[in-house]
Amino acid sequence: MSRRVFILGSTGSIGRSTVEVIQHLRTIDGDDSWPVIGLAAKENAVLLQEQAKLLGAEAVSIDVNSSLDISYLYSSADELIRCHAEPGDLIVAAIVGFAGIAPVLRAIECGCDIALANKEALVAGGQLVMDAVKKANVQLLPIDSEHSAIFQALSNHPNKEIEKITLTASGGSLRKMSPREMQHATVEQVLHHPTWKMGTKVTVDSASLMNKALELIEAHWLFGVGSNRLDAIIHPQSIVHGMVEFCDGSVIAQLSPPDMKLPIQYALTWPSREGGCCDSIDWAKYSPLEFETIDLERYPAVNLAYQVIQRGGTSGAIFNAANEVVVSSFLQHSLPFGSMVAIVEEVLDNFSISDCVSFESVVEADREAREFAKVRIASHRVNT
Ligand code: NDP
Repeated sequence: MSRRVFILGSTGSIGRSTVEVIQHLRTIDGDDSWPVIGLAAKENAVLLQEQAKLLGAEAVSIDVNSSLDISYLYSSADELIRCHAEPGDLIVAAIVGFAGIAPVLRAIECGCDIALANKEALVAGGQLVMDAVKKANVQLLPIDSEHSAIFQALSNHPNKEIEKITLTASGGSLRKMSPREMQHATVEQVLHHPTWKMGTKVTVDSASLMNKALELIEAHWLFGVGSNRLDAIIHPQSIVHGMVEFCDGSVIAQLSPPDMKLPIQYALTWPSREGGCCDSIDWAKYSPLEFETIDLERYPAVNLAYQVIQRGGTSGAIFNAANEVVVSSFLQHSLPFGSMVAIVEEVLDNFSISDCVSFESVVEADREAREFAKVRIASHRVNT
């Protein structure tokens, strides 16, 4: 099989893995298969140019001013999609953060299927994205490994047969630190993830389990289950990615080595499977598989996710925006690790939630929450 593809966020961790998957699939399906029509990045012009040449993409977008040797050059992913996407294309949405939502909505409007890594798009605008998917009758295929696992485990079982969905969490880079040490974990310690090699934001989110919080909200939108049927558990080996318990008590889980190429390839080739691009699993190496209940005092972000799911409306946009701001401050050494989630909670509690009626309402909630989070961070610095 083969289809036309766009990779948004091609220069990032997921984007680069997607390029490898496409190259791998071309070795199976032929050099002319899997045509990559367009690529998008923010500022890494050198790698973007290399990828375009390697994959034969004729259209790219980059946010900063660059002179690339390319037939069609745009200044935003949204414009790239608007000018080149056709119904039935597959868009790999791997831009990090809220910046990814506009091109995702545009692609859905154009009738494209979405292979979604950009969880923030669903956290901030879940209602909008899901409504758009339904209206355009396109597929939303999860790339996040936990959601890919649930998607695979569910097959076509109806929602009413789902008793509980459980997402696994590696526990991140600070799992073995005491809560006291965690408060002042350095950027270097936080970015040293034990099992996954990922972009900086998602690695920081993993250490606070904010990543799991975002993923619980993502799972709520993708699989149509409320907070009472969503759970998360720490599984340090990152081999079991997610499990579905059905109403008869049977649990179906998906297992594979911790390599994002596998869920990316599944999203590309769905509903078929093609020859694997990863090593097969070495059971002895990963044994024993361990599971630990999440300590919600140590990881308060997880509780916030349940609140966001229950409150609905613009709460996801507020939550996501506050988190993007605190992560960025932490990475700039302007905020201690241990203060991030408290500030997100403060922002969430200080905003009235309105209905998520339009893209503009989500953008406005995002903007206001960012401003407020910056004020709270500044006052935090004065008071400590
Ligand atoms: P990275 O930080 O590695 O890459 C981000 C990508 O987005 C880069 O290509 C960057 O371009 C691009 N980008 C950022 N802002 C813009 C913008 N405004 N317009 C166009 N492109 C932009 O992130 P990851 O690959 O780690 O993560 C991407 C998404 O996938 C996130 O939502 C993350 O949560 C999710 N995810 C990641 C996993 C992983 O293993 N990495 C696992 C599961 C989900 P440039 O390089 O030019 O800055």
